[in-house]
Amino acid sequence: MSLQIKRKILAEIKNADTVIIARHKKPDGDAVGSTMGLKGILELSFPEKKIFIDREDECDYTAFLGDEGPIPSDADYEKALVIVLDCGNVERVSGSRVASGKRLIKIDHHIDMTPYGDISWVEEERSSVCEMVTEFWHTFRKELKIDKAASSCLYAGMVTDSGRFKYPGTSPQTLRLASYLLEQDIDMDLIYMNLYIDTIDVAKFEAYLISKIELTESGVAHLFISRRLRKARGLTLEEASNTVGVMDAIKGSLIWIAFIENDDGSVRARIRSRFIDVQKLAAQFGGGGHENASGATLKEQEEVNILLGRADELHAAFKAENTELF
Ligand code: AMP
Repeated sequence: MSLQIKRKILAEIKNADTVIIARHKKPDGDAVGSTMGLKGILELSFPEKKIFIDREDECDYTAFLGDEGPIPSDADYEKALVIVLDCGNVERVSGSRVASGKRLIKIDHHIDMTPYGDISWVEEERSSVCEMVTEFWHTFRKELKIDKAASSCLYAGMVTDSGRFKYPGTSPQTLRLASYLLEQDIDMDLIYMNLYIDTIDVAKFEAYLISKIELTESGVAHLFISRRLRKARGLTLEEASNTVGVMDAIKGSLIWIAFIENDDGSVRARIRSRFIDVQKLAAQFGGGGHENASGATLKEQEEVNILLGRADELHAAFKAENTELF
């Protein structure tokens, strides 16, 4: 099934003179790694084609992967094949013109709530879209080329979206595909250093946040990071958002949520879990994501308590039936 779709995608790419790759807004390691990795593969394999990454925003911690190249013009879109990676719904695409290309392809690993595209390759159980792009290259490795730079991008995205190969989506195939990237002589030390190094301000902020973690009655860990606090500490939104991991190993807490207040007063909820499906919880607030990593943007602060209340109910119900895990 997926081989057929992959073949169709390759045929579309071969047919196009211009390929525009896009991803979700506020891109993370997987979104940037997959777009840059695919761009690298296509540029190496089809030097006569024009390959772009369209975007309205970038990601600080993946900047070491290199320059993403020029933004396509409206004229570039006219006959372009547009490939959107790692983005469940069209509204979330970074760059508003994706629907103006000639053909549209969706490649994603989020739950397919709002299908789009002339061709759609969605596999929800995949640990990352970088894994899917790597598999795409490997399937057609006689025709498609890869190099150290493209492999580094894909590896970085696989590492970040799988929590360093720790989250449940990590499969034998994930590790097989990662091994093919390692064969391209990538510098793992450099990648890990760039992905996981913190400034002293962030390290101290995390220490402060740990002291502020609160638990709901059933044990859902949560933190609220206000605009004021973030600004007082001189942190970017991204740096503040990345602290969700400080709650990931608290005994008795299988759901943890960081609430980060955006500049416009809305609140980004980053919801993480072990064993418990939090995707439906996020969907109740207009968000989405995966079973164990979901997110939503809350328009008003009152929604924070509502979301926490529902998370607590979910956690309490799971706890009642799985006492051995607590
Ligand atoms: P985050 O906490 O932003 O890393 O998001 C975790 C997962 O949930 C990612 O796969 C996101 O794509 C997804 N997600 C986050 N926010 C939203 C949203 N507002 N709508 C749909 N999916 C989201």
